[in-house]
Amino acid sequence: MAKTLQAVRGMNDILPAESSAWQYLEDTLRDVVHAYGYSEIRLPLLEKTELFKRSIGEVTDIVEKEMYTFDDRNGDSLTLRPEGTASCVRACLQHGLLHNQVQRLWYMGPMFRHERPQKGRYRQFHQVGVESFGIPGPDIDAEMIFMTARMWERLGLTGASLQINSLGTPKARADYRNALVDYLQAHADALDEDSTRRLGSNPLRILDSKNPAMQDLIAAAPLLPDYLDEESAEHFSGFCALLDAAGISYEINPRLVRGLDYYSKTVFEWVTDQLGAQGTICAGGRYDGLVEYLGGKAIPAFGFALGLERLLAMLMSADAELPANEPHLYMVVSGAAATEHGLVLADKLRDAVPGLRLQVNCGGGSFKSQFKRADRCGADFALVIGDEEVAQKTAVLKPLRSNADQETVTQTALATRLGKLLSGKLDG
Ligand code: ATP
Ligand code: MG
Repeated sequence: MAKTLQAVRGMNDILPAESSAWQYLEDTLRDVVHAYGYSEIRLPLLEKTELFKRSIGEVTDIVEKEMYTFDDRNGDSLTLRPEGTASCVRACLQHGLLHNQVQRLWYMGPMFRHERPQKGRYRQFHQVGVESFGIPGPDIDAEMIFMTARMWERLGLTGASLQINSLGTPKARADYRNALVDYLQAHADALDEDSTRRLGSNPLRILDSKNPAMQDLIAAAPLLPDYLDEESAEHFSGFCALLDAAGISYEINPRLVRGLDYYSKTVFEWVTDQLGAQGTICAGGRYDGLVEYLGGKAIPAFGFALGLERLLAMLMSADAELPANEPHLYMVVSGAAATEHGLVLADKLRDAVPGLRLQVNCGGGSFKSQFKRADRCGADFALVIGDEEVAQKTAVLKPLRSNADQETVTQTALATRLGKLLSGKLDG
């Protein structure tokens, strides 16, 4: 027998047993962003490679070593999106969505990065991204934090804590960059290979290094807040005041920089110690320079992305009660007349009992094997239709999860009876 094919390493199937948790997570997050008046934008999974090179920056982990890039049949270099912001800005510019108007947008879907797969780190993973354009802040910065805090609350997640920092304006960053380079050059022998390479091209990124051997050096480096310009300092204190007013606690982490090049002023991360090494569940900030950089006007922007796999892992370890999606009812049909009658009756019941999940036995089988299927699918009741029930216009309702007696119900009374038996369990 041929060897069965396996999925690409780091790319996971989401199996039926897991999909209800995913749906719950996605629905909850969608409800929250909609409650804040954000609109969904759906973006292609593939973009021209140049888009990511330009927006994310050549000297980043993502562009240097994580992108899935290939030439298509026309010889164009294309890349599976490693994140959503670049595509979102590209789409807004392409369709004129930023002409004299603000935009508050969100998207959800898979992202692709060629990283070393491990718990919480995959090669295909899923993000919800939220972006705003045309709003200078700090009100919108704070609103997005409120939104994320509400997401954790709605999901019943405790144990995420907020870290914030300000990267300042490009001028302040340049001053800081000079000071940092001086410091790092003075300790050049302590730099690892990646950091040595970045010293000339992108020294701030060195602060983002995950190499344990680099942590002491990073801890003693000059601090960004000491170089903050007045405008950014004011923006940051305004942002903090809004968080204070809402009672959202946070820690100012002067070493928090973002892995991506286009950030300025506010940056933030939600982190947890519940997930081991991959503890960042959500990260974002202000990227006032990106729209202009990609060919638009200078338009302020703020956004974040959260990792669904990591949130889901938190949700599972919190033993959160997830809504069920098993059928409520399994229809057992015996004989050709019952099969025909049953399929039609089932649709009538679906119309009459909103939210009812009803699975009809298809493919025949003995009573015994049909009841086995009914049990396995998780239904609360079996609804049995045989020749006699077809003739009498009745059905037998048999509880599968309790010892209660079965009952014979006329088909005209079925909807009402089911509504009563399943009250509190029906969707919506
Ligand atoms: P990390 O430092 O963990 O590599 P990052 O800075 O590369 O994260 P972002 O680009 O800011 O991550 O993406 C936002 C969120 O997406 C992260 O906080 C995380 O929750 C999630 N994420 C990023 N990369 C992965 C991955 N390879 N697998 C699963 N989730 C991921
Ligand atoms: Mg990364």
